[in-house]
Amino acid sequence: MTETISQPRTADDADVRESASAGAGLLVFAPLRLEASAVRRGFTQSSSRVERTGMGATRAQKSVAQKYAEDSHLGSFSGLVVMGTAAGLTGDLHPGDLVVACEVSDGETSITLPGADLLAAELRRAGLTARAGKIRTVGKLIKPAQRAELAAEGFLAADMETAALLAAPSVAADGRPLAVIRAVSDSGFGPGMVSGGLAALRSLRAAAPVAEKWAAACRERTVLLAGPRSFCAGVERAIEIVERALELRGAPVYVRKQIVHNTRVVADLEQRGAVFVDELDEVPDGATVVFSAHGVAPAVRDAASDRGLSVIDATCPLVSKVHAEARRFAREGYTVALIGHAGHEEVEGTLGEAPESTVLVQTAADVASLEPRDPAKVAYLMQTTLAVDEAADVAGALRDRFPQMRAPGSDDICYATTNRQVAVRAVAADAGLVLVAGSKNSSNSVRLVERSERAGTPAHLIDGATDIELSWLSGVSVVGLTAGASAPPAVVSEIITALSGLGTVTVTERVTTTESVQFGLPREVRR
Ligand code: SF4
Repeated sequence: MTETISQPRTADDADVRESASAGAGLLVFAPLRLEASAVRRGFTQSSSRVERTGMGATRAQKSVAQKYAEDSHLGSFSGLVVMGTAAGLTGDLHPGDLVVACEVSDGETSITLPGADLLAAELRRAGLTARAGKIRTVGKLIKPAQRAELAAEGFLAADMETAALLAAPSVAADGRPLAVIRAVSDSGFGPGMVSGGLAALRSLRAAAPVAEKWAAACRERTVLLAGPRSFCAGVERAIEIVERALELRGAPVYVRKQIVHNTRVVADLEQRGAVFVDELDEVPDGATVVFSAHGVAPAVRDAASDRGLSVIDATCPLVSKVHAEARRFAREGYTVALIGHAGHEEVEGTLGEAPESTVLVQTAADVASLEPRDPAKVAYLMQTTLAVDEAADVAGALRDRFPQMRAPGSDDICYATTNRQVAVRAVAADAGLVLVAGSKNSSNSVRLVERSERAGTPAHLIDGATDIELSWLSGVSVVGLTAGASAPPAVVSEIITALSGLGTVTVTERVTTTESVQFGLPREVRR
């Protein structure tokens, strides 16, 4: 599948090998002399340039038309940022705060700027107070009542030029990435704004190096989308269980631990009435509690039963399968070597099935210190979300030491983990950078980062687009993109949209396999 975001372009695999076509630096339009000077003083690169455009829509448009007519070089910069001061429209904005426009409107037409969140996040990382929001360009000084009206329409700041500058025919014809950074002066418009806006000018100066970073990250790029990616059947089931429990039983529904390891999913369910707790003693008597997809030890089930809690079990059936194997091996007198990561909830649950018979083995080095009751009766099991090759190394070390070792009936590392690892390797091979959507505590997402790095491609784990650092993208024309099994598909779309704010994005999906696994719901939430 190939799809182009923002400008038509076709791509095939020959297009997607990493190549370098450097941009030509940052061009800034600043309406007033003081604004232009503040920005210029903040520049760190000699290739950056600021052009003063004058105040007000008509003057700014005329000035831009003239500059383009006189200087053909203006069209060759990699990114254009409109920078200046603005009136803050909401009470929570203070002088010096920065507003990065996600939309600019003159009241009749609107221009959407998709990378605003990404740039605002980078400004925050630079220590500035910045947020993305809508900016309204107005024709004349606005009065307090108008400020309130515009704020009610969702605008954060108002200026007198941005919409006109972005709509100027020469700028529109460029097709290059655009951004808008306005610093709140909060003293109205005109020369008086500057004297009241020293904080705004300081912020503009401090924002200039970030604008340079933004321009360095601007270029046309290909996003190589790994397939499969994102939600697996176990995660979809677990989320649906909480949703149905909320529907059928009403809020609050308590969930022991994060239902799946993803901050977005948890925040969304929290908003809808789920209450996430670490332990059962935080759950009121008689309440409904959902066990997470990672499973629980029998001791937790017993405690819930003793308390009379109404339990709905969202443990993934593939985790339950590992639990059943642990019980079976222990019953048959085997010492179970559980290959996994200490402290992970799934591992704690599996260890709890047969604590006397199970030993955690994290690395091949741990194998040497293993002291089974009977070396002829050793079996191994695995956490479902391990790196396939590393887990195979540990299993190999165990087999070398215990040649008669029993293996699980079928692979413990689940289909979703395996498929996403194969898929990320396929995109990492041709990418200059891999972005993995997922939370830090998501084991299978972390493994995708490691898998990419082992293939020689730098990779970063991000919860969303605002975690993308602009420096990662500099010089990178092919970005591999995937998502861990607990990361929502919407995050992937959000990341692609954000990248399209830095230049035309051609999305090519590379599918290594398709998935059709589905799990049934527990009877408590069946309709
Ligand atoms: S990653 Fe695998 S084991 Fe975990 S919930 Fe998804 S399908 Fe189940």
